[in-house]
Amino acid sequence: MVVLGAGFGGLELSTLLSEALGEQLDLTLLDKNDSFFFGFSKLDVMFGRKTPDTVRLAYSNIVKPGVRFRQETITAIDPEARRVTTRSGTYDADVLVVALGADYDPAATPGLIEGGNEFYSFAGAERLREVLPTFSKGRAIVGVTSTPFKCPPAPSEAALLLHDYLTARGVRDACEISLVMPFGSPVPPSPAASRALLAAFVERGITFVPNRLVRALDPARRVVILDDESQMPYDLFVGVPKHCVPAVVAASGMAEDGWIPVNPKNLKTRFPGVYAVGDVTSVGTAKAGTFSEGAARVVAASLLAEMQGGEQPSAYAGAGTCYVEFGGDRVGRVDVDFLSGPSPRGSFIEPSVALVGEKQHFGSSRRARWFEL
Ligand SMILES: Cc1cc2nc3c(=O)[nH]c(=O)nc-3n(C[C@H](O)[C@H](O)[C@H](O)COP(=O)(O)OP(=O)(O)OC[C@H]3O[C@@H](n4cnc5c(N)ncnc54)[C@H](O)[C@@H]3O)c2cc1C
Repeated sequence: MVVLGAGFGGLELSTLLSEALGEQLDLTLLDKNDSFFFGFSKLDVMFGRKTPDTVRLAYSNIVKPGVRFRQETITAIDPEARRVTTRSGTYDADVLVVALGADYDPAATPGLIEGGNEFYSFAGAERLREVLPTFSKGRAIVGVTSTPFKCPPAPSEAALLLHDYLTARGVRDACEISLVMPFGSPVPPSPAASRALLAAFVERGITFVPNRLVRALDPARRVVILDDESQMPYDLFVGVPKHCVPAVVAASGMAEDGWIPVNPKNLKTRFPGVYAVGDVTSVGTAKAGTFSEGAARVVAASLLAEMQGGEQPSAYAGAGTCYVEFGGDRVGRVDVDFLSGPSPRGSFIEPSVALVGEKQHFGSSRRARWFEL
């Protein structure tokens, strides 16, 4: 078996199969990077709460029976033949799982690279760590440039944490913060979470601009241009770049309308023996690690049932838990079920210090299971 991508989906799948099959498993896990980091670590890095080195989890720590991790860049995928080519060789798979996540295309937003910043890539978060200390007065805009985008609460979190960051530096009164979002509310599947976030924005003087995307930046005039052609002056832009499948997935012919279609019940693609999980798919959930992981669980259970002759698992519910940073050392919790009902349903637990601990446990339990750390 070959698993492409060692993110939330690939790591969870490899761990579950190794736990169940031990040395009977023959699984190759491929990733171009030498380490994994949680999406939320980018917020910690950009605001200087943690250093890049402390949030990196090196793949060299993966020692699991039946799993071989290889740091290789995948250059071609042939889903009909289930053949994968990397810069170092080729792999033929009886079962192939594509868990390559979403890439970014910052160049798709005119002016973003020259005149703005993005906090969705690790490199972007590291750059912002240097840029933010230089911002002491003026207008800051946190803005989304395109849909779909990962972790829909993340722009709201960035705006709230920016408020805390500027307050701690004693410059908040000299700054304005606006948040440009493509939805009518911050977290549409959870009205309660949206209400709590909107109240937090009002309390902190953050301007929420709903139902708008940032179409372009004009760095010479220092304005952000929205998709209704209205303009907002800015001094600091902290953006969410356009998302896309990795180039190797686009070239494989597996994607349709931008993403890999799968059967939402079992994550099978239209190619026999080929599954796809997580952000790389158009399965119908938000793009977040918690959902990639849930999809990987269904694939693992289904493969084990086939191998061991057990019952197939129930259909993927597209359910997951997201922790939302509210600032002030408090975290809220949103639970959303995207697929088991006619429309997504979310519930919300108010921000608290206790949930800070729960979020830490979310990270540390995965560090332990995936990396033995
Ligand atoms: C600021 C921010 C905050 C977030 N907060 C949360 C949160 O609190 N909770 C949550 O659940 N999610 C959060 N997310 C989202 C989460 O990080 C992603 O949705 C999640 O990582 C997706 O998992 P995945 O397995 O689908 O893909 P990924 O984790 O992206 O893994 C894909 C892997 O494929 C590899 N890859 C890609 N192309 C190639 C290639 N050609 N060759 C070899 N390897 C390749 C990549 O290196 C990567 O390791 C956040 C994201 C951001 C940006």
